[in-house]
Amino acid sequence: MPAAPTIRREHQMPEGTTPVPVAIVGAGACGLTAALMLRDAGIDCVLLERDAQAGGSTALSSGFIPAAGTQVQRQAGVLTDSAATFAADIQAKAHGDAAPHLVAAYTQAAAPALDALQQRHGLDFELLQGFLYPGHSQLRMHTLPQKTGAALVAALEAAALRAGAWLLTSAQVHELWADDRGRVLGLAYQRPDGRVEHLACQTLLLACNGFGGNAAMVQTLLPEMQNATYAGHAGNDGSAITWGRALGAGLADLGGYQGHGSWAVPQGALITWALMMEGGIQLNTQGERFHDETAGYSEAAVHVLAQPGGVAYNVFDQRLLDLGRGFPDFVAAEAAGAVKHAADAAALAALLGCDLSALQHSLHGTALQAPYCAIKVTGALFHTQGGLDIDARCRVLTASGQALPNLLAAGGAARGVSGNAVWGYLSGNGLLSAVAGGYIAAQTATSTQTAQQTHIT
Ligand SMILES: Cc1cc2nc3c(=O)[nH]c(=O)nc-3n(C[C@H](O)[C@H](O)[C@H](O)COP(=O)(O)OP(=O)(O)OC[C@H]3O[C@@H](n4cnc5c(N)ncnc54)[C@H](O)[C@@H]3O)c2cc1C
Repeated sequence: MPAAPTIRREHQMPEGTTPVPVAIVGAGACGLTAALMLRDAGIDCVLLERDAQAGGSTALSSGFIPAAGTQVQRQAGVLTDSAATFAADIQAKAHGDAAPHLVAAYTQAAAPALDALQQRHGLDFELLQGFLYPGHSQLRMHTLPQKTGAALVAALEAAALRAGAWLLTSAQVHELWADDRGRVLGLAYQRPDGRVEHLACQTLLLACNGFGGNAAMVQTLLPEMQNATYAGHAGNDGSAITWGRALGAGLADLGGYQGHGSWAVPQGALITWALMMEGGIQLNTQGERFHDETAGYSEAAVHVLAQPGGVAYNVFDQRLLDLGRGFPDFVAAEAAGAVKHAADAAALAALLGCDLSALQHSLHGTALQAPYCAIKVTGALFHTQGGLDIDARCRVLTASGQALPNLLAAGGAARGVSGNAVWGYLSGNGLLSAVAGGYIAAQTATSTQTAQQTHIT
């Protein structure tokens, strides 16, 4: 049984504890990006990962990262995008409620972060073409050729190890050691056999994501999602929030999260929202359309869950089936039997179990052509967007706005850029916070290390 996250107040770590410049809790996109940037700056770092391998929610994701102004974007002929345009899209989706300092910092850092990962570490990014995700005014979603989060983690992990980062797997951090002024001295982590080991550090980065895997926290903080399927990583148990609270840190945007209204049941697979953006529709079991599908997949989760049985059908046609088959998640779902076929409207009504007249009314005015396809879906919680309050350098702030001495947080562990509600999530905000946040946190840790070295000499 893993120990609960706690803070231990001490003046120093146990004698003989190995000190490292930077310790990073969590080896997902955030932790691995930070480790790579630290190694580029010549700073030693240790990643601690509770699982037997790196991955987290990043490995479960589609691995699509938005950025404006990358070399990849320019090579693909997208010349008019900028951090400011990207920031405006984020704020438009969040109705102006996204933390402005983080929107500015992340949109500015995303392109140099991806360029660095590509040019210095060989991540072979390409631009996702063919359609725009809801709210994005430009093509800016970057992906590895495999189009999976698993491939993204594999590439980041291999690069981090090549660059000389230390990765301790099967190491669940449960205790942060901190002095009375809130300076983190180090941490304790538990091995699968129950053994506890210690690590001292000069700077600690929390890259351990949010609380989507903690049912009690979801019930309290996101009651509308308490009965929803959680599609993220079970290790996102809210540790960062528990530690932060005990250290007097502020918390922000706890009502923000990424939902998804297109989670195939019973297969348990993501059905790309590209189908909806290109003309597909969602119908409930009565054959009725119930929302504007182009508004966003995150809020669609809530709309789908409000339908009879908490389910809906994604309805599309052959043209969109061909589009879906360009996405590995879709291919896997189809192989698992998720895609049902109906030769005409009458067969589709029989499949949905609804009146033909209701269905015909819903199909009227769409461009969909028989034969039809349908996938039964529900609304799912993908990850939480609220967390530790941080400044633009990813330094954790106290409730009164002071930076804690040496504690950083980014990715899902910190507040995101989606405001305080489900509809504020612009697609890609998750990996944007993880990759751009990891990049910035590494810069902050590097400047702290450099300042300390200057002070010593
Ligand atoms: C199905 C799905 C699809 C998605 N697709 C996209 C997408 O295409 N684009 C996008 O932007 N976002 C997407 N997301 C969201 C995205 O996955 C997350 O926002 C992102 O992965 C967060 O990265 P992270 O590094 O902060 O956290 P994670 O990747 O979850 O990494 C955190 C790591 O910390 C470890 N950890 C936690 N606690 C401890 C501890 N106490 N000690 C040691 N280790 C610990 C965990 O095991 C985990 O490996 C998707 C999410 C899901 C579920």
